[in-house]
Order: sequence, then C-alpha cells, then structure tokens
Amino acid sequence: MAEPELSSRLATVRAGIADAARSAGRSVDDITTIVVTKFQPVSLVRELLELGIRDFGESRHQEAHLKAAELAGAGISWHFVGQVQGKKARAVRAYSSVIHSVDRESLVTALGTPPEAVPAAQPTTRPVDCFVQVNLTDDPARGGVSIPDLAPLVERVLGTPGLGLLGLMAVAPLGADPRRSFALVAELGSQMQGIAPTARYLSMGMSQDYAAAIAEGATHLRIGTAITGNRPAPVNLKTS
Ligand SMILES: *Cc1c(COP(=O)(O)O)cnc(C)c1O
Repeated sequence: MAEPELSSRLATVRAGIADAARSAGRSVDDITTIVVTKFQPVSLVRELLELGIRDFGESRHQEAHLKAAELAGAGISWHFVGQVQGKKARAVRAYSSVIHSVDRESLVTALGTPPEAVPAAQPTTRPVDCFVQVNLTDDPARGGVSIPDLAPLVERVLGTPGLGLLGLMAVAPLGADPRRSFALVAELGSQMQGIAPTARYLSMGMSQDYAAAIAEGATHLRIGTAITGNRPAPVNLKTS
C-alpha cells in the first residue's frame, strides 16, 4: 500500500499543476507529469504505480536499467533525464521511451539507428523519442547544448533515422528567475519549429519551479522530491 504521505504529496502537486494550468488558460491534459525517482528504491516506484503514475524519470543508467528490468511488464514509460555517456547510449535507448538529454552530435550518432540496420536485421530497434537539452548556463558540465549550437544539433536529430524529436528540454539555472529562463526556452522552441514543425513539446519544470514552467508552456514536467519526498543518499549499486 502506498504511504498516505506519498499520496498526499502527489495530490498537492497535482492541485498545484491544475492551478498553474488554469491561471495560464491551459488544459492539464496537455501536460505530462514525469515522476523522477532517481536514488529512490523500486518499492517507491511500485507505490507510485498503485497511485496511477506510469511516467517515471531516472538520471543514472545503471540504476535505471535495474529498475526497468525489475519492473518489466508494469506498463511504465521510462524517461531518461540525466546525461548520457556515449558508450551507454544504446543501452539507455533499449529501456527508455523518451530521452530528455540529447545534447551533442556524437550522442545523436550513438543513439541513431545506422541506416543499414533499419531493415529486419535489427527488429528490436524501435524509434525512440527525444528532447534536445539546452544549456542555459555558461557551465558545460551542466549538460545541454549551448544556444549557438542548438539549430545544427536539431538538424542532426531530424536527419537521424530511429530518433523522433519531441522538442526542447532545459533546467532553470540556480539563482535566475525561472520564468524568464523558461520563456527563453519557449522562444527557442518556437524558433526550432521553423525547421522541425512537429517538435512542439517543452520538457521543463521541476519541484521548485513547475508553476513557472507551466506558465511558459511546459508540456512535460520532471518532478522528483515534491512528490517522492527527499532523496536518500546515492548508493553504489555495484556493492549494495
Ligand atoms: C533530479 C532531476 C529532476 C527532479 O528534480 P526535483 O527538484 O527533485 O523535482 C528533474 N530534472 C532533472 C534533469 C533531474 O536530474
């Protein structure tokens, strides 16, 4: 059974999302909430499943891979929201419905289906949806492509078989007004629609700033602690 605290936090966030959507004149049906369960145990994912959640976000391959294997058949859509190492790209793609953090050409190449592999040779390779992550800071370690490099990367995704482009993803920089950050992402998103007309989705908004993200047009919220409670300290999965 799900803990009462968990269901009440979920209800609070759902009400907050509904309020923000109403203020923005938007429908909640146009907003997907992904519950980010990184560092959380599988038991918590199961409780959230009981509460009707089907979209889960993870940011570390090793952990995501174990959870996806353990919960295979539960009807979960896994969203990978963390930085993807090139050599793990194919593995991440295997269990992910959506990869939110495509941020460089080498990763696009690693994720894409080589054209010669499209016919029956690799029947298990299905297209994977993705977002291009934009870095709104000057720190490359934050992940995401810099704004000047965004358009060429979008073109590269569009030209890569096996990848479906949903739109842009971003994390609001600490210390900046999140609403202005998200407005910039929305503006970049509409510019990108000039070259990718169907890439109209925006993955933005976390526990602290989802209302601002909804006001600026977010379609995919990535919410962790406001729903799950605090994250436990990360464990080393190899030794636990
Ligand atoms: C952890 C994480 C989230 C969720 O963060 P909370 O503050 O717990 O809501 C969202 N997006 C990304 C990329 C994350 O790594």
